[in-house]
Amino acid sequence: MAQLSTRITNVAPSATLEVDLKAKALKAQGVDIIGFGAGEPNFPTPSPIVEAAVEAARDAKNHRYTATPGLPELREAIAQKTKRDSGYDVNPSHIVVTNGGKQAVYSSFQVILDEGDEVIVPTPCWVTYPEAIKLAAGTPVEVFAGAEQRFEPTIEQIEAARTEKTKAIIVNSPNNPTGAVWSAETLKAIARWAIEHDVWVITDEIYEHMIYDGKKTDYIGALVPEVRDRLIVLNGVAKTYAMTGWRVGWLIGPENVAKAVGKLQGHLTSNVSNVPQRAALAAVSGDLTAVEMMREAFDKRRHAIVSALNDMTGVTCALPAGAFYAFADFSRLLGKPLGKKQTVCENTVELAALILDEVHVAAVPGEGFSAPGYIRFSYALADDDLAEGMRRLKQWLAAYE
Ligand code: PLP
Repeated sequence: MAQLSTRITNVAPSATLEVDLKAKALKAQGVDIIGFGAGEPNFPTPSPIVEAAVEAARDAKNHRYTATPGLPELREAIAQKTKRDSGYDVNPSHIVVTNGGKQAVYSSFQVILDEGDEVIVPTPCWVTYPEAIKLAAGTPVEVFAGAEQRFEPTIEQIEAARTEKTKAIIVNSPNNPTGAVWSAETLKAIARWAIEHDVWVITDEIYEHMIYDGKKTDYIGALVPEVRDRLIVLNGVAKTYAMTGWRVGWLIGPENVAKAVGKLQGHLTSNVSNVPQRAALAAVSGDLTAVEMMREAFDKRRHAIVSALNDMTGVTCALPAGAFYAFADFSRLLGKPLGKKQTVCENTVELAALILDEVHVAAVPGEGFSAPGYIRFSYALADDDLAEGMRRLKQWLAAYE
């Protein structure tokens, strides 16, 4: 039989999308599933953004391709938004609009990695980073920071992972899956370390506005301006404006990176769909009122879910400082008989599958985030669903204790 490439065979499917797919398939069969799987705000996209898209769709000129790196007015608006939020100037020509933040991740590695180059990936990490690195023929080198260090790596751990092949490091704060917000000291140390060792820094800032307790996101490019000529910033409208399905993200890099990503995009997608770019323009050039409303709702859910999880037998969960994920430790339940059939789970992949099967609650096992023993719950779902999902899980765990 004709064979697939080794490259794609070595890539793992997205654990989050797999859980979501399974949950959606069960829902379609009429099963009452509560989905904590996808990181997808349950709010509708704010209406001024939708209206801008409707108007754009009616305008005949928008059936055309846009410039490959994105609409000039959108890139200008992203530059202004970066100044507003991150506090520094970027040249719009250094911005490329991509099909979601995910494509920005993929493209970044495609343009900076050669075969065998290593990328330091602090873990627990978002599922896509290691696979995007492998797709670019690179090697992910994981540096694990568990709950006992608040999921924040130290510069000593990072330095211990460095070799002469180290080409880049990923920063993701606020973090998926842990919700951790790394300190300004850690970010500064990483920037200085990267400068000293000639390493690219890829900072994924997609959860910048999902931060609680009056804190503000620290931006590595603002903290250490000298890092900017080796800094690639990834961002998008998905999480901030409840626009996951619109598929608009971007990257900001030095001129050579933006040009290289533009060249790649010219052969890959030509450009991001025209009308969603105009919706994104309305989003990033608007104010943050709707964002603040969503953030407040997430904050209440954050407290609700963390206290519900900590109330369950064998489960512990630290209060996350950002994003909209609760990353709970289920390791004490492994190796024990659980549920109706007293099933013994050896890992959290099996446990999450058992929970989906018996409780109809979908959540993502830690293995997908390089953190076995944990399960990630997105709390971007409706309040009632959150309460019902937690009630079911607690009852299930208590019933078979
Ligand atoms: N970066 C992180 C850390 C994420 O969690 C996600 C989505 O889950 C993305 C990037 C990509 O978002 P999108 O491609 O929907 O813009």
